[in-house]
Amino acid sequence: MHIGIAGAGLLGRLLAWRLSGLGHRVTVFDPAPDAQARGAAGWTAAGMLSPLAELECSDAHMATLGLRSLDLWVRIVAQLPLPVDFRRDGSLLLAHAGDLGSAQRLLALIAARAPAGLTPEPLSPARLRSLEPGLHGAAHAWLLGGEGQIHTVQAMQALAQGASDRGTRWRWSHAVRELAPGCIDGDRFDHVFDVRGVGARPDLQVRGVRGEILWLHAPGLELRRALRLLHPRSRVYVVPRPGDIVVVGASEIESEDRSPISVRTLLSLLSAAHSIVPQLAEARVVHSETNLRPALPDNLPRVEARPGLTRINGLFRHGWLIAPALVEDALHELPIEESVS
Ligand SMILES: Cc1cc2nc3c(=O)[nH]c(=O)nc-3n(C[C@H](O)[C@H](O)[C@H](O)COP(=O)(O)OP(=O)(O)OC[C@H]3O[C@@H](n4cnc5c(N)ncnc54)[C@H](O)[C@@H]3O)c2cc1C
Repeated sequence: MHIGIAGAGLLGRLLAWRLSGLGHRVTVFDPAPDAQARGAAGWTAAGMLSPLAELECSDAHMATLGLRSLDLWVRIVAQLPLPVDFRRDGSLLLAHAGDLGSAQRLLALIAARAPAGLTPEPLSPARLRSLEPGLHGAAHAWLLGGEGQIHTVQAMQALAQGASDRGTRWRWSHAVRELAPGCIDGDRFDHVFDVRGVGARPDLQVRGVRGEILWLHAPGLELRRALRLLHPRSRVYVVPRPGDIVVVGASEIESEDRSPISVRTLLSLLSAAHSIVPQLAEARVVHSETNLRPALPDNLPRVEARPGLTRINGLFRHGWLIAPALVEDALHELPIEESVS
């Protein structure tokens, strides 16, 4: 079949890689000038794969999609033509001594919504030291076993390269204006996918939610897992990447302003991060990035399938967490595929 895909972000690249791997002829349209241009939210994301920690603002269905996707990422990453840093050693929730009450309320919420048998494991100081010898800033810690993280920049590059190797054609610098079943801007296809994220308006009632993020260079920190601070007001996560980089994020602001990070966000993210990892005091801020998370009015993901056209959108703050399972489910609806092998 000849498949047209509008959007070369996270979903567009994953779909292109999967569909071309199944032997379909795939053409992808995107306004970006080339495969490396970082317009899509997928580039900016920290890449936390946190089905349990995200239960604070999601539900058991999202957690199930996330757990399935974690298994799928293991297989996807193994098949990509470029290296992608992917870890599944769990993540840590941390709280300061004075915030134990509010942390426990959140932990109870997570435990109530979690699929059976999956709950945060409280860590003694000795066990925390054995898991993360370099971590000294927080009084209380819990391990979320099985959670993971993926290097989003490497994965975006590797998915595009993998799709190209399998024969995908890219139509860069092409912002799709008219999309209908079997048709993108006058070009005919057997099936069309609309994965334009925030760009899917007015066909979908999608909005952008501003997120700001920082990259720090912290030689010698030796953090192994992603950390999240449980705090009544200051939310922050710290995600280690290769090359002594840690990603600190992220704001969540109801605005489509893509301008650079604000002083307010910078101060709040860095002071919260420094409170759990004091060694960050001498880290260097090497990069900051702002992007828009595509969100539907209920903040839930949606797959809409009809003959000739599938729309996937609303991945909001969970795109990397759930995209593989959503893509697999969307492809099952069509007469074009069997499950990921
Ligand atoms: C700061 C930040 C941190 C995040 N952290 C995480 C995280 O830790 N874990 C997680 O799971 N998720 C995270 N996310 C969310 C994740 O990045 C998104 O859910 C995901 O990128 C959505 O994928 P998508 O393919 O729908 O959209 P995108 O990745 O935004 O891709 C949309 C694509 O459509 C293209 N497009 C737009 N208009 C048109 C048009 N007219 N024609 C053709 N193409 C068009 C765009 O150029 C873009 O390439 C984060 C997001 C942000 C901003």
